[in-house]
Amino acid sequence: MTETVDILGLGFEAFFAASGLGAGKRRNLRAAYRAAFGDGRWEPGRYLSRADAEALSPRFRVGLLEPVRVASEDGEYGPTSKAVFRLDDGLAVESVRIPQPGGGATLCLSSQVGCRMGCAFCETGRAGLSRNLSAGEIVAQAVTARVALGWDFSNVVFMGMGEPLDNFDGLAGALAALFDQSAIGLAQERVTVCTVGLPDGVARLKGLGYRRLGLSVSLNAPDDAVRSALMPVGRAHGLGELAEALAAYPSRRNFALGVNYCLIPGVNDGPGAADGVAAFVRAAGRALVNVIPYNPGPAPIGRAPTEPEIDAFMASLAERGLEARVRAPRGRGLAAACGQLGGPDAAPGVR
Ligand code: SF4
Repeated sequence: MTETVDILGLGFEAFFAASGLGAGKRRNLRAAYRAAFGDGRWEPGRYLSRADAEALSPRFRVGLLEPVRVASEDGEYGPTSKAVFRLDDGLAVESVRIPQPGGGATLCLSSQVGCRMGCAFCETGRAGLSRNLSAGEIVAQAVTARVALGWDFSNVVFMGMGEPLDNFDGLAGALAALFDQSAIGLAQERVTVCTVGLPDGVARLKGLGYRRLGLSVSLNAPDDAVRSALMPVGRAHGLGELAEALAAYPSRRNFALGVNYCLIPGVNDGPGAADGVAAFVRAAGRALVNVIPYNPGPAPIGRAPTEPEIDAFMASLAERGLEARVRAPRGRGLAAACGQLGGPDAAPGVR
């Protein structure tokens, strides 16, 4: 038996090519494709002749996921919600909907089950990598969230479980569907890839040619020694190499890189910290620094910073002319804030 292909992992052109139908049927096939993303149904009989529908029906499917747990927590701009989805093989991934200050919401997607990057502050990394998600499974989080949970979203960020550039093919396929006007149809500037900073991956991402796609990198340290202690990837790729890859990334003039800095008192907020961040940003190009107060999970490596500690760090960044803002962790009680996905309480009953 041939395996059915998940439509959610295909941009329309790839789907059209895989269908084997002629150009005259393109329009109707597009309507069937659009419905797969819009209401999660694969009903070619509604759009194609009976013969074509019978031929295509068993070859494709819409790989919606099974929501096994949804939790919400009220916040300043509305409820932050976390969903745990079961995959076909019984493993689970998590997606989070975060309301934004000006209206709209950001959907945070997972790219892998677990992660092999091993960042010290992260719950997902603790269990290691189980497997990559397919492009369809990545997009299915968005489609299932909308169709089954009624979540609307205006932006997507790859900041859930996993390192997106460590699953490049899955990410590339998912981006194609996210941007396809007949599929999810998001504008490129509404999608951001967040990475620990794999230089090769950054270069490959640029190679996809999405000139308005957002990119942010987790810096989290002022120098290679602190970074390597927090993020093992720092041992393989030093900050110099990373900054060089990032400096080559922008394909348009007013691009601003996101630089995420999880502030952990006593670990990465020392006297030279702001100088280290400034040096990195100078080398990497125009950037906006997102300071994320550390949010201790079940296996903390430090404590959360106090307000005065956050203010002092922000002031030291401002003194060095850096554009920076505090990104408050939302969904603290849900284990849905940065570095908390996939922790021990993530999905009871799901392996
Ligand atoms: S912070 Fe991101 S890259 Fe690091 S271990 Fe966690 S999921 Fe992986």
